[in-house]
Formats: sequence, structure tokens, C-alpha cells
Amino acid sequence: MSVAVNARSIDDLDELPFDNRFTRDLPADPDERNVRRQVEGAAYTRVRPTPVAAPSTIAWSPEVVALLGMAPDLPLSDDFAQVFGGNRVPAGADPFAMAYGGHQFGSWAGQLGDGRAIALGEVLDVDGHHQMLQLKGAGPTPYSRTADGRAVLRSSVREFLCSEAMHHLGIPTTRALSLVTTGDEVVRDILYSGNPAPEPGAVVCRVAPSFTRFGTFQLPASRGDHELLERLVRVTIDHSFPDLADPSVGLPELVGRWLGEVAERTATMVVDWMRVGFVHGVLNTDNLSILGLTIDYGPYGWLEDWDPMWTPNTTDASGRRYRYGQQPQVAHWNLVQLANALVPLVDGDVAPLQEAVDRYPAAYESGYRTMMAERLGWGPWRDGDDEPIQALTEVLGVTEIDQVLFFRDLADVPVDPDVDVSDADLLAPLADAWYRPEEVTGDVAADLAGWVRTWRARVAATDRDPDARVAGMDARNPRYVLRNYLAQEAIDLAEAGDPSRITELLDVLRDPYDDQPGNARFAARRPDWARDRVGCSMLSCSS
Ligand code: AMP
Ligand code: MG
Repeated sequence: MSVAVNARSIDDLDELPFDNRFTRDLPADPDERNVRRQVEGAAYTRVRPTPVAAPSTIAWSPEVVALLGMAPDLPLSDDFAQVFGGNRVPAGADPFAMAYGGHQFGSWAGQLGDGRAIALGEVLDVDGHHQMLQLKGAGPTPYSRTADGRAVLRSSVREFLCSEAMHHLGIPTTRALSLVTTGDEVVRDILYSGNPAPEPGAVVCRVAPSFTRFGTFQLPASRGDHELLERLVRVTIDHSFPDLADPSVGLPELVGRWLGEVAERTATMVVDWMRVGFVHGVLNTDNLSILGLTIDYGPYGWLEDWDPMWTPNTTDASGRRYRYGQQPQVAHWNLVQLANALVPLVDGDVAPLQEAVDRYPAAYESGYRTMMAERLGWGPWRDGDDEPIQALTEVLGVTEIDQVLFFRDLADVPVDPDVDVSDADLLAPLADAWYRPEEVTGDVAADLAGWVRTWRARVAATDRDPDARVAGMDARNPRYVLRNYLAQEAIDLAEAGDPSRITELLDVLRDPYDDQPGNARFAARRPDWARDRVGCSMLSCSS
């Protein structure tokens, strides 16, 4: 884009360059009453945020401020809090709530929609790309069903920090501009145990090129509204997949190409999640982004001790549908639901849709293999690597092992094949990863050392420069992730009136792949007090 866009430093929010193509190009709900109802034949409803008592900006992302071309100190202004707390709609905005449906925990749930998120519109960023600004927790909309349209500070801190942490890990995600407390109380029953209590309210301004979800297409499809379905697909391709837009290609083929691209992006995202140990927690089809971005940070969690069965979401505790180890399969299932929604657009020939969905397992498998071989310092994947990787997933379960520390510290294990090393010396660099060091003796130590010897032999079979190998491993195995207890500590402090830990964590998480000597504390494995504490190991959808 032009130099003028790049060079800007906006210090008046009425000068944000809005270009609201979503509301311009898609059909609006003609009814603008803000009352809960079914909305048909429309992609969105125009609705304004409900004002809050006393908006106050307690954290912001300097990178997103810069991306949007805002002056660095703009977040300090009262007007910033007014706008991003939902009290003032800036010039050029066109606030709306999106319509979408979804499968929740495997069952079709009908219309969902933005029940508490209100988009202000789309702003051109400093590179000339559209960025939708969306206020989560901005008050009720026609899609609020029985809920209040608000968000609590606890869940807003989690969303704010995790979106930025994921971005800095290099994982596709929605971003967060700001975290504004509202001065209002919001009542929540954290564990749905019949104990509702008031909590401080907050609004996060989320930022993404698009918030369109798989469920966006499912809703009109479920109602037989093929005209809206086709319009949504065409506009989504025009806006977000311009390389695919080709007037010479018929709709069935276009839809197939597009779905294939969505499948590949989804696979890439899930491979990244599996690498860092991110567990989304609620992979309903309304929480899958059409752009392959991680979206809707609710009861997510970070895998600490290696346990593929782990889910952070207590609402999912019985079925564990969204457990760490099942995320690849669940994403595939969700893609099948999206494909089903698109059937009306392919003239009775579902082959292009089937082929597109089939790209997912292939893309996931090859992405996973490449990722694992690289993170283990082996370079390109080789035939036969499946076996030691499978063995690794088993050996990591022999005692409680912090998987973040294990992978990170593996780079420090001596690899010279000509030097004889004892089991104890081989395992010494990994000692921080043991939650129960007293268990790492006898057979457990022998099993671990046995795998490390296999790993070492594979490293020795590559002729990589040792420094390059370690750098490659470090670039894929983060030292710092948003451990569940770290987020909870920041929340406890913020609820007590001190939000400084949020910014402190954001600073640490900005460089997750670097060892930061002064910040070793934030790389430590989960302390014992956090093992069973609500918010650390147990979360619900109540947010
Ligand atoms: P989620 O589980 O966060 O993906 O939300 C599922 C649906 O519930 C979406 O339509 C949300 O907009 C809606 N929702 C969640 N929390 C609230 C709330 N406090 N008020 C209104 N709608 C909500
Ligand atoms: Mg959602």
C-alpha cells in the first residue's frame, strides 16, 4: 500500500481508516432491534455495544497498536478506554454481530452467533490489509440466547495473553489489541456448581482479518438458504482467499479448491498446537476459523505433564472429546461438517468436497512428521522415524514429565557417539522436566535413557553442524509458554487491583524461544499448589 498508510501515527481514533467490506458485501438483518431472536437470510445484525460504567485500559499489545498504525501512547488516553470498552463508537465504524451456527460437542446446536462480541468494522492496517476490530464482552446482541453478553476479567486476561503468546510462538491466531476493565460486575458460576458470584467485567478487543467460522456456512445450509450460503462463500473467497478467485472456474470446482485450502491451513494450525502443547478445549465448529487461525480462547490449557488424554475443560471431562491427543481427529471431523454444509453448491457431485477434506489427513501427517523430526534435531524426516517417535510418546508417560521442558532441554543432552556416557549423565540435562524426580530411577530411568540413546543415534546419523542443530531445536521447542498457573497468578493479581503481571508476562512471552536469564521463574514447571486448583488445571466454559 501507499507510503502514507505505512507512515501513519494515529492519535485520534476518529481517524482510523475503516473500510467495512463485510457489512458492505453481505446481506444485513433488516431488523435492527437488539432483542434475542432467530435471524434468517442475513449474515449479521447491526447492533451497538452497551455502555459500561467506568472503562479503564489495563493492558494492550504494542505490536497490534503498531500494526493498526496507532500512536504508541494512544492506549493511555481516556478515549481509547471509551472506544475499546464499548462506550463510544468511532467515526467510520459500522458495529455488528455475526450470525453463525455450529456443532457443539458433536451435536448440531442451531443458531449461535456473536452473543457477546460486537465488531466495530474493518480497519486498514499499516500494510493495507483489512483487520476486523471486535469487542468481546460488549453487551447483548440478538444472538445472546439466554446469556448476558458480557465477559469476566478472568477469561479476558486469558484471551488477551494467549492470543498474543500464540502469535509470538508463530502460530496462526486472532490477535488482541487491548484489555479494558468495565467497572461493572458480572455474575458467573465458575464450575456450574450452583455457586454464582460477582466478578469484575472486562472487554477484549480482538483483531483478525476475518472472524468467519465453519459454523458461518453451516447456519444457512441448515436452513436451506443456498443463496446466502453461496454469497458467503464467494465473499469469503474474494476477501480472504483472493488467489483462488478465478471467474473461469465453476462454483463446484471453486468450492472444492477453497475447502482444500481451508483443510491445509487447519492441518498446519493443529500441527503447531501439538508441537507447543496447546489444548483448545472447545473445538466446536463455531470455534474453527475459516482462515485457520486459533480462535475463541475459552477453557483452553497448556499441556504440562505429558498426557494425551488431558483436557482443561471440565465441561468436557466425561467424554474428553477435546483432549490434547484427539485434536487432530476432531479438526478433521469439523472439516467434514463444513463439507456437508457446502454440498448444495456442488451440483450433486461431492467428489471435489471429498478430495478437499481428504487433503487434511495427508497434510496433517506430513506436517506432523516434518515438525517432529525438526524439533528433535534430526533434520528432514526419514523412513523409519515413526518408530522412535511412537516410542517417545510412550516413554514420556513412564513418569510425570513436563513436556515443554523435556523437548527444550533435549538439545542439551550430549550427542557425541564416540564418547561413552552413563545413563545418569544422559538424563541430567532433562532433570527439570521430572515432576517426581524420586521416580526417575531403576526401570523408569533405564526406559528414558534407552530412548535418549535411540534419539542420539539418529542425531549422529545426520551430518548437521551441532550449533545449527541446537538452534533448529530451540526455534521449535519454546522455553516459555502461557502455563496455566502463570495465567492464573496474573488473574489473581489483576482481580486484586494489580494488573502489572499481565504486561510482565506479555513481555516474557514475546520471545518464547529465547532463554531469558532473568525470567527463569516463568519457565518453571507447574508448582504443586497448582495441580488441582480451579483455573490452573480445571476450567469450564463459564467465562
Ligand atoms: P463459546 O463456547 O464461547 O464458543 O460460545 C458459544 C456461543 O455462546 C456463542 O454464540 C457465544 O457468542 C455465546 N456466548 C458465550 N458466552 C456468552 C455470554 N456471556 N453472553 C452471550 N452469549 C454468549
Ligand atoms: Mg465461540
